[in-house]
Amino acid sequence: MQRYFVEEKLKLNHLFSCQEDQIKHMSRVMRFRPKTQVICIDPFENVFLCEIQNVDSGQLLPIEKLDDNHELDVDVTLVYGLPKNDKFEFVLQKTTELGVNRIVPFFSQRSVIKGDKNSFSKKYVRYQRILKEASEQSGRLKIPKLMPAIKLNEISQYLSDYNLVAYEEASKQGEASHLSQVMNSSYESITIIVGPEGGFDEKEITYMKSLGIVECSLGKRILRSETAPLYMMSVIGYTRELMK
Ligand code: SAH
Repeated sequence: MQRYFVEEKLKLNHLFSCQEDQIKHMSRVMRFRPKTQVICIDPFENVFLCEIQNVDSGQLLPIEKLDDNHELDVDVTLVYGLPKNDKFEFVLQKTTELGVNRIVPFFSQRSVIKGDKNSFSKKYVRYQRILKEASEQSGRLKIPKLMPAIKLNEISQYLSDYNLVAYEEASKQGEASHLSQVMNSSYESITIIVGPEGGFDEKEITYMKSLGIVECSLGKRILRSETAPLYMMSVIGYTRELMK
């Protein structure tokens, strides 16, 4: 069933109007008729089954409150070395599907895109739309937050109960236990850090280790920078949801 994040607080049996882009989606893309049912999620994570009353004006009636939580039970922050543009969009979409809560892009020594905070903020609206649509599609209650791009020396504000940096050199040296050790620990929040196409500079790793961040391997093969976050998110999802 189609899901929409709406901006106002919903109440059972109280008519409300959805946003312009949603009206367009309902009328032009989905060609919904009155009485079609959709699911709406309000900013307080209340989920309601709603019935469309009027497609053109986007009027909906919440007819049943649903108990529907598909969120990961752990707060995941992804700190991600900015890659080329379309790859970043891919990572936003896929990590949202996999349950990420917060995405913090960073400019690294080896980022293909150099520290240009302006060009990043220009795309912010587009990125926001990708996050929202991926959240709707995957049945989430939350839209992940996209934070402003940082330099690596600003990372400490985003540290969690556990903090792992995926490091290609750790993989080349045969490290094979750090990720699974953390997955077997109890934690409520985790920060995962992935480098850009060019990988991490040794100094960056030394700096992160000085903050208590643990380096880990993601197996024997070197993954592209857009694959690595998906690997880590999948491992977290698997251990938290399917191994109990
Ligand atoms: N150009 C580098 C690889 C960069 S891969 C090289 O050839 O060595 C981009 C990022 O993905 C890395 O910085 C790291 O964060 C992550 N990554 C990819 N494969 C990995 C692996 N096997 N183990 C740990 N991290 C990995």
